[in-house]
Amino acid sequence: MDYLPVSWRLRDQLALLVGGGDIALRKGRLLVRAGARLRVVAPQIEAELKLLIEQQGGEWLPETYQTHHLDGVVLAIGATDDNDVNRQLNADAVARQLPVNVVDNPPLCTFIFPAIVDRDPLLISISSGGASPVLARWARSKIETLFPARLGKLAELMGRFRKPLAEKLPQIGARRLFWEGLLDGPLMEKVLAGQQAEAETLLSDAVTNADIQKLSQGEVYLVGAGPGDPDLMTFRALRLLQKADIVLYDRLVGKGILELARRDAELVYVGKARNEHVVPQQEINNLLVKYALEGKKVCRLKGGDPFIFGRGGEELDSVVAAGISFQVVPGVTAAAGCASYAGIPLTHRDHAQSVRFITGHRKDGSVDLPWANLNTVNETLVFYMGLVSLAEICSNLLAQGMATDMPAAIVSRGTLEDQQVIISSISSLPDKVATMEVAAPSLLIIGTVVTLHPRYSWFM
Ligand code: SAH
Repeated sequence: MDYLPVSWRLRDQLALLVGGGDIALRKGRLLVRAGARLRVVAPQIEAELKLLIEQQGGEWLPETYQTHHLDGVVLAIGATDDNDVNRQLNADAVARQLPVNVVDNPPLCTFIFPAIVDRDPLLISISSGGASPVLARWARSKIETLFPARLGKLAELMGRFRKPLAEKLPQIGARRLFWEGLLDGPLMEKVLAGQQAEAETLLSDAVTNADIQKLSQGEVYLVGAGPGDPDLMTFRALRLLQKADIVLYDRLVGKGILELARRDAELVYVGKARNEHVVPQQEINNLLVKYALEGKKVCRLKGGDPFIFGRGGEELDSVVAAGISFQVVPGVTAAAGCASYAGIPLTHRDHAQSVRFITGHRKDGSVDLPWANLNTVNETLVFYMGLVSLAEICSNLLAQGMATDMPAAIVSRGTLEDQQVIISSISSLPDKVATMEVAAPSLLIIGTVVTLHPRYSWFM
C-alpha cells in the first residue's frame, strides 16, 4: 500500500490553489464542497473560481506564486502548467511538511485525490495509487451503480439514531450486528423506495426493541472457502466471513481469502500442513466452542468444502454438544476446482459415468483402501492427499489389472496463480514426479478424462 486512504475534515481550513484555469477550478470545486476556504494564487482566474471564493470567504491573490503563500494553509495544490512553479511549490510544501498535490504529476505529490462516489455522508473513495486514474474511474462507475443515490439519506438517518442505540446497546459488537440485520432487511428497502417517514418509524421501533441477549449470542460458521482462488467463494461464505469476530483458518485457505475478513477480526492460524498439525484437532474443536461461548461470531474457514475430507463433522460435534447455533456453508471442493482449472472434466459421456473422491492419506504407514474395488471401467478416481502415497496408489491399481497407460494427472496448487499440471500414465507418473518439485497441496486424478486436458485447458 503506497498511500493511506483517510477522510480529512477541511471545513473552514485554508487551502492554497496555485493556478486559475480549468483544472484549478475543478480542484477548487472539490475543496469548497468539503467546506474549505480557498487561497487562489494566479494572475488570472476563471469567473466561477471567483464566485467560489466569494461564497466561502477565501481570497484571490493575482500574483505569481511565492513561498509565503503557504503561510496559514493546511494543504497546497499546484494546477499550473509551469513546471518551475510546480517544482518550487512542491519543494516549499515538503520543507514545511505540508501535504501537496501537483495535478497530474505524481512525483510532485505527497497526496493524491481518489475518485469519489458521493452519497454524502457516505463517501467511497477509490484510488489506484496514481498507477491508473482510468482504472480508478472505471471502478467508480461500477460502484456508482451498486450504491443507489438515496443511500445518503440512509446514512443520515442512521447517524441520527446512533446515540439512542448506543444507550440501548453499550457493546459495540451488538450494535454492529443490529445495523447489519437492519441493512439486510426492510430498512434499506423503505429508504430506497423514498418512504422516509416509514423508515424512521421502523428504525425507532427497532432501537426500542433491540435485544441485547439475542444479538450477543455466539455462533459458529463452518465455511468452505474453495480451493484457493477467492473468486470461487460463495456469496454466503463471503457474508459470514465478513460478519465474523474471529476467524480460524489453516494452510489450505488462500491468502486472498483471508483479506476478505473484517479488518478488526481476529485471525487465528490453526495449522494443518501435512505432518504439522499445529493445533491438534481436539483443540480446534474446543476453541470453536470457547469463542462462541464468549459471544463471538466464529468463522471456521476450511479449504474446499467442509464436509469433504475436511473433518467438518468432527468440528461440529463439539459445537452441537455445547448447544451453540451454527451454519455450514458448502464450498467448491478441490476436485471440482482443479478439474475446471486444469480442463479435465471429471465425468464425460465418452469416458466416465462416475467419479470417486478418495483419500490417499496414510494410516499406520500405508494406504488402506479397497483396491480391487477401485479398478472399475468408465470411472474417474480423484485422490485427495495422495502425493505422498503416489507410488503405492499407482502400484496397487496396476496390481489390480488397471491398464499401464491409464492417464493420470497431478494438479498442484489448483486454481491458484502458480497452478501446475503434470500429466503422465499410472505406470510412469511416480518416477516422473520423483524428479520434480511439486508444491502442496496437490490432487491426483486418474482416468481417461485426463486425455481431454489439452483440449479444455484454459487457465494460464
Ligand atoms: N476439504 C477440502 C479437502 C481437504 S483435504 C476440499 O474439499 O477440497 C486436503 C487435500 O485437498 C490436499 O492434500 C489436496 O489433495 C487437496 N487440495 C486442497 N486444495 C487444493 C488445491 N488448491 N490444489 C490441489 N489440491 C488441493
